[in-house]
Amino acid sequence: MAFEGLTERLQNAMRKLRGKGKVSESDLRETMREIRLALLEADVNFTVVKDFVKQVRDRAMGADVLEGLNPAQQIVKIVDEELTKTMGEEAVPLNKSDKIPTIIMMVGLQGAGKTTTAGKLARKLKEEENARPLMIAGDIYRPAAIEQLVQVAQGIDVPVFQLGTDVDPVEIVRQGLAQAEADHNDYIIIDTAGRLQIDEQLMDELAKIKALAHPDEILLTVDAMTGQNAVATAEGFNDKLDVTGVVLTKLDGDTRGGAALSIRAVTGKPIKFIGQGEKMSDLDVFHPDRMASRILG
Ligand code: GDP
Repeated sequence: MAFEGLTERLQNAMRKLRGKGKVSESDLRETMREIRLALLEADVNFTVVKDFVKQVRDRAMGADVLEGLNPAQQIVKIVDEELTKTMGEEAVPLNKSDKIPTIIMMVGLQGAGKTTTAGKLARKLKEEENARPLMIAGDIYRPAAIEQLVQVAQGIDVPVFQLGTDVDPVEIVRQGLAQAEADHNDYIIIDTAGRLQIDEQLMDELAKIKALAHPDEILLTVDAMTGQNAVATAEGFNDKLDVTGVVLTKLDGDTRGGAALSIRAVTGKPIKFIGQGEKMSDLDVFHPDRMASRILG
């Protein structure tokens, strides 16, 4: 289960304060030490942990929490609020264009869940807005990628524009956009190539597609199971492409929490959606407060 170790350790750290009418500074110091270790063990970015611990400590000291009624409960509340803040406070909606179509470009490393998420998003837009999305198959390097996108699209009854693997991806996108204009699609979801790691050629290609398509949304898909690597990936893509949002996938798995808690603080970019399973319906809007509650258990 996601966050299992983190939840248990945070609960343990704060449980020790329970029942105390008054919390001493050394009690608080010990609790903060345990919270710090719990976060580091969950693979949260070091600087994020440092800032987080400082915020919680300052608030606990500053508001006379230690002297007040039920200090343990107040500290739990502060931790909850600061976790929420670290993850961005409010849910951030998908960027939309004033006039159709809204163009969404999916980027990410191979295996992160980009193609699956493209399908999930198309389905969500269809279900919730009665939208008519078109998906563009822009990953020509893995022949199976186009086949996979076509299969995903068939399952949710959404059209795919594809020109096989012999045409340059930028040209595929150009023609796909023209097709969408002719068909009056209201959303275009561009699936792009992934690699096992970030390389210059991939980034150049994505930059060219971005320059051509002027996407309203560049959604970076990262795998929550990869912790700090997901954060480094997000930084790498964001530096080159200035992404507009992140989708954190595989939160149904045994993830520790580092990616969820670090990405916003490190990159400044919001997590907009979370993937919580392999089914097309397993995509949810990311709510920082709900995630904080989930982490605290
Ligand atoms: P891509 O290479 O980035 O396009 O990745 P895919 O979309 O092919 O996904 C890679 C694998 O991850 C597939 O087996 C997906 O079913 C799986 N996957 C994607 N998102 C999720 C998720 O949220 N939860 C789980 N458990 N699996 C996922």
